[in-house]
Amino acid sequence: MPDLRHRPPGRIHHLAIVVKSLDEALPVYRDLIGLPLESIMDIASDRVRIAFLGVGESKVELVQPTDDTTGVARYLAKEGEGFHHVCFEVANLAEELTRLGIDGVELIDTAPRRGAEGPVAFLHPRSCHGVLVELIEAVGGPAWKALGYPD
Ligand code: ZN
Repeated sequence: MPDLRHRPPGRIHHLAIVVKSLDEALPVYRDLIGLPLESIMDIASDRVRIAFLGVGESKVELVQPTDDTTGVARYLAKEGEGFHHVCFEVANLAEELTRLGIDGVELIDTAPRRGAEGPVAFLHPRSCHGVLVELIEAVGGPAWKALGYPD
């Protein structure tokens, strides 16, 4: 039985698209489709360069691997450019991971970890019908403090 007290995700936080080059992808998503560019970041620890573009209450994340050692780089080499993952926003990430783990969902991250936009964790595509699912904790949730984000 589903736990009826469980709060469903509040929104799609972002959809991520893996690209070979942000410089080549931005003119399409920003200039032709017209999504406003919110930020560009180099995430050295993840060996990616990412851009967030706004669309309503959600975002599109463009992800460019900066070397060929990471999972997302191998994905790009094997599958080519395209849809990579969907990210749902949840109120309490650690609680969600505990609940999902108990329910048999295969967790890539068993605890919240630092992401560019807040605490995140990934669920394995094997458990999500072929889609890589990311969860992000809504601003001000308990993992923000636990992971040392500034107030
Ligand atoms: Zn993401």
